[in-house]
Amino acid sequence: MNVPLFDPTTAIDPLREQIDAALLEVSAAGQFILGPNVEAFEQEFAEFVGTAEAIGVANGTEAITIALRALGVGPGDEVIVPSFSYYASAEAIPPTGAVPVFCDVDPVSYISTAEQVKAVVTPRTKAVVAVHLFGNIAPVAEIEALGFPVVEDCAQAAGSVGPDGRPGALGSIASHSFYPSKNLGAFGDGGAITTSDKELAERVRMLRFHGSRDRVNYEEVGFNSRLDEIQAAVLRVMLPQLSQWADHRAAAGQRYGELGLGELVTLPQATAGATPAWHLYVVATDNPDQLAEQLGASGVEARGYYRSPIHEQPSMRAWRPQQATLPGTDQAARRHLAIPISATISDQQIEQVVDATRAALG
Ligand SMILES: *Cc1c(COP(=O)(O)O)cnc(C)c1O
Repeated sequence: MNVPLFDPTTAIDPLREQIDAALLEVSAAGQFILGPNVEAFEQEFAEFVGTAEAIGVANGTEAITIALRALGVGPGDEVIVPSFSYYASAEAIPPTGAVPVFCDVDPVSYISTAEQVKAVVTPRTKAVVAVHLFGNIAPVAEIEALGFPVVEDCAQAAGSVGPDGRPGALGSIASHSFYPSKNLGAFGDGGAITTSDKELAERVRMLRFHGSRDRVNYEEVGFNSRLDEIQAAVLRVMLPQLSQWADHRAAAGQRYGELGLGELVTLPQATAGATPAWHLYVVATDNPDQLAEQLGASGVEARGYYRSPIHEQPSMRAWRPQQATLPGTDQAARRHLAIPISATISDQQIEQVVDATRAALG
């Protein structure tokens, strides 16, 4: 039996009829932009996350850019972001006119601590992008206590929950992605911004519609960045399943531990009080690419996602740290390996992954 790295389709198979009906309804209604499904999804998603407001946007990358703009980030400002993340976390910063400043991560939780953020603060620091990487939860309150607003990057953390609530409700404002492979994935690109600050929410609504509140006056150069009706209709069918999918992801992580995988590789450590809905289940080992090859020979898919940290990407050359080193980032980049996880991974598949790892390393 093959065990795929991720499986975004099995979980939604039982929902196909409902989804198809919702798509036909949108087709018949003929309203494709900012219609009733987007409005309803925004309310339902805000309720799920635990914020006063949710605003649908085109994707999770623009969600970060727009959230930063809503906070007033612009030219001359610096925005702190972890270098060990998906590239888009940092790519979203320069379009605001600000520059990214890279901070380190803890190589076991893959999350930046408040101390690691503090280490790169300068007089130009205006905001922080805190990434809930792999579904683990960043210490948002501790980072905001440093005196800066946080944009939570929740792209990988749909369904995760911590002692202070869900990602997306822990700081000033947050970005979400509904890219098809994410924990809550649409049938195309989609994203959202959540906040409980009414004023920020109004600015986001203005920015996503060309910088206009009334479609007559254009007060700022904004974005054409909307979640469309078709995606919202699909997401409304899926959202009620998200907690159950998240529970399955959390339980799968737990099961890897119970089966002794931690004796072979370093398991990802949940941050204090967090129950991560692991988007990717990422272990660490000395020769991850060699292990991936051995696992592949047993039908188990595994791969390293961020072998080159963001600050080493060619596009980020101008913003590479001058002196500071990022030892946690280097370690995580070199040693991490994502192994299979999904909302429907079976116990048998989990056992196969552990057995194959034991055969390779034991
Ligand atoms: C996927 C992802 C994004 C970008 O989301 P898109 O919807 O693909 O634009 C941003 N940050 C992280 C951490 C992601 O995983």
